[in-house]
Amino acid sequence: MKKLFSLLAFACIAFACNSKQATNNTSNSDAKFDAYKKQFVENLWKVYPGWASSQGYHKYDTALIVPNEAERIVELNFAKANLDSLKQFNLNSLSSNNKTDYRMIENQLNSTIWSINEMKSWEWNPSEYNVCGSFSELLNGNYLPLMQRMNDMCIKMRNIAAYYEAAKANIKNPTIEHTQLAIDQNLGGVSVFETDFMDSLKKINVSDGQKQLMAETAKAAAKAVKDYADFLKKLDNKTPRSFRLGKELYAKKFDFDIQSSYTADEMYQKAIDHKKELHQKMFELSNQLWNKYMGSAAKPTDTLKLIRQVIDKISLTHTSPDSFQTTIEHQLPELVKFINDKNLIYIDPKKPLVVRKEPAYMAGVAGASISAPGPYDKNGNTYYNVGSMKNWDAAKAESYLREYNKYILQILDIHEAIPGHYTQLVYSNQSPSIIKALFGNNAMIEGWAVYGERMMLESGYGNNEPEMWLMYYKWNLRSTCNTILDNSVHTRNMTKEQAMHLLMDEAFQQKTEAEGKWRRVSVTQVQLCCYFTGFTEIYEFREAQKKKLGDKFDLKKFHEQFLSYGSAPVKYIKELMGN
Ligand code: ZN
Ligand code: ZN
Repeated sequence: MKKLFSLLAFACIAFACNSKQATNNTSNSDAKFDAYKKQFVENLWKVYPGWASSQGYHKYDTALIVPNEAERIVELNFAKANLDSLKQFNLNSLSSNNKTDYRMIENQLNSTIWSINEMKSWEWNPSEYNVCGSFSELLNGNYLPLMQRMNDMCIKMRNIAAYYEAAKANIKNPTIEHTQLAIDQNLGGVSVFETDFMDSLKKINVSDGQKQLMAETAKAAAKAVKDYADFLKKLDNKTPRSFRLGKELYAKKFDFDIQSSYTADEMYQKAIDHKKELHQKMFELSNQLWNKYMGSAAKPTDTLKLIRQVIDKISLTHTSPDSFQTTIEHQLPELVKFINDKNLIYIDPKKPLVVRKEPAYMAGVAGASISAPGPYDKNGNTYYNVGSMKNWDAAKAESYLREYNKYILQILDIHEAIPGHYTQLVYSNQSPSIIKALFGNNAMIEGWAVYGERMMLESGYGNNEPEMWLMYYKWNLRSTCNTILDNSVHTRNMTKEQAMHLLMDEAFQQKTEAEGKWRRVSVTQVQLCCYFTGFTEIYEFREAQKKKLGDKFDLKKFHEQFLSYGSAPVKYIKELMGN
């Protein structure tokens, strides 16, 4: 008996000793890894100074990297050297937080190598070359006095001619779609040199001679931008590449960009199934609303046509082009109030959200978006960019407004702002991991916004009105069809006609919206899958947690903990939350 006791005691001591040693090892490894990350980010900014500025790291604001062969070798060497450095760390000895940082760095570096060597969009996508946005950010940033920022801009402008010369040399058989996008976006953004910079010159206190010099530098910059657009317009492109990525590149890009636990084709199948379920739910609601909206009109036998007629009728309730922005502005405080009343997630009242007209250099891809301050700019403004309908004809504006009708506009605000992207980004910038703040996972970010829509309605937002749910399903159908569309266009040769049928007849979109989506799918790849993939993974995870924790499940706690890890892939957040 005594012997047994002492053996047990010995076992306990030995165990305690081992576990103490393990803890020491772990914290040593974590300290080393933290030091490595710090150095990694410093070196990253030397290779990608433009990215650094956009994240609020202003040491290299005057640098403009010329995108030539030498530069690609620098990028490849950087990636390979850091993949080697990662190998010195034993993944198992790191904290959960560092494990995910390790995997995100590794993914980023492998993705860089793959992009340069295999994807090669630097050859076929002329819209990768555009300096206007980065200059606009410098001009609008408020981290330094205007005069200093304008001086920095002038130094940076010296490389613009070489930058566009390298771009011209890189381009080989570009796609027609990316060529047109590059022309539109470069010409759309050139006003930063021609107008914004010139206007700002009047506000700074320097000699007339100095102003003259600065104005000439900006004029030369504008000329280089316009020359590039001109070069693209005149390009003798006899064998343009197809904008369709093809199965092999697509599957790889999906894995790198989405970092899902599912493959591209698994998500495609889930989306096809989900579309069927949504159509069933929408039929039930439309059938219920028929008399209210359609009176005694005969019901079509085709259920999709029945749904369409009810949706079209409800869509007539919408705002006007002139009040589009103010309607959004009034909506935001109401969303905050609902979230506080229902105790859904903490919203930091000290972080302002400013609604503004979409800057010119962003025009062409999306209708509303969030620009948030980077990890170094914790006190910067978060902007809600709203596309303007200023130069649209009445029919185009009407079509757009029916799409963003009374109900959908509220769901858009939930998605883009509160508790969607805006809220998520505020949490993300509080994240202790610079890696997650920088290599944010789009599927998690978009998935969160799409999840937020569903969560708000489930919590009673919109008073469970059948109109609100019907419109929500229509909106959710859009994310679902985004995945179907993207996969089908890039890997299954879906034609524009087939895409229009999917978007307009099966997803009930207006023509303007459907055409915008076609344009987007022809200049992006995989990005459109973020929404449905992230949403599906987050929703499945929440339901699993509910089941597991039963009465102890707390929705507010779940949301805050989920967001506290920053923009990591959902599969890693699941690990961090103890699954
Ligand atoms: Zn109308
Ligand atoms: Zn979004």
